[in-house]
Amino acid sequence: MSLRNPIDELAELMRSSKNVVALTGAGISTESGIPDFRSPGGLYSQIDPMEYLSVESMKSRPEKFWRGFAQIMSPMTEAPPNNGHFALAQLENARYISTVITQNIDGLHQKAGSKNVIELHGHLRTAHCYDCSWDCSLTDAIAQLDESPRPFCPLCGEPLRPNVVLFGDIPAEYPHAETLVAQGDLLIVVGSSLSVSPANILAFRASRLAIINRDQTEGDRQAEAIIRGNAGESLTLLTERLI
Ligand code: NAD
Ligand code: ZN
Repeated sequence: MSLRNPIDELAELMRSSKNVVALTGAGISTESGIPDFRSPGGLYSQIDPMEYLSVESMKSRPEKFWRGFAQIMSPMTEAPPNNGHFALAQLENARYISTVITQNIDGLHQKAGSKNVIELHGHLRTAHCYDCSWDCSLTDAIAQLDESPRPFCPLCGEPLRPNVVLFGDIPAEYPHAETLVAQGDLLIVVGSSLSVSPANILAFRASRLAIINRDQTEGDRQAEAIIRGNAGESLTLLTERLI
């Protein structure tokens, strides 16, 4: 085991790489006040995500789904980006990383200034019609809940759904993300337990892997550098080494 500071190790790996991709999870946004799934006090300790965040629940219990969804999303749309998001945006701007692939739906990478962002699990900006693909802002869809148990399309009358990848959906962006990871020579995973599929498979497609995470992850055995700490502080220190 190396005695070098893991931040220096990762900085060196990045300097010697040509195409670095970042993969982020819920852990990068906890410092913005958004709970992750699996940490103590995370969403799993409050709700059963399958109950609220699945296609099955949206179709069979739409009222309960929309009420729960509106409750989960409101802290996400109000939260500001934190130092971790800003550091990744700076690293992209300085060409140390090419793309951020995120499992998050909170949109905080873009708010921090990242340009090349792949949102594997969708986002909270819009909702669309099941049938005719008409779309509107998610805020407008949720405003319909004041008068109706679920939002409907004004064109064809079919139900609307959020542009979020729910349990039971196929993440359409995944093949693109897999290609980007395969083309890169280093993948840095930040704030993900790497236990949600298929995003976690990306870690195993990477030629070289580094991990920044508070707790152990499913990818640790394969990683060349592991920074066991908070994303905001670790990414800030990394940025200071490089820029
Ligand atoms: P996860 O909850 O499974 O794992 C989060 C990991 O981040 C944990 O291992 C934890 O130790 C670590 N962590 C927490 N705070 C951290 C910090 N400040 N610094 C460093 N590490 C920290 O999250 P996941 O792997 O992303 O899987 C959860 C799924 O839920 C994802 O698919 C994601 O789409 C969704 N989700 C998204 C949001 C969001 O958009 N902000 C929030 C909750 C869940
Ligand atoms: Zn429609």
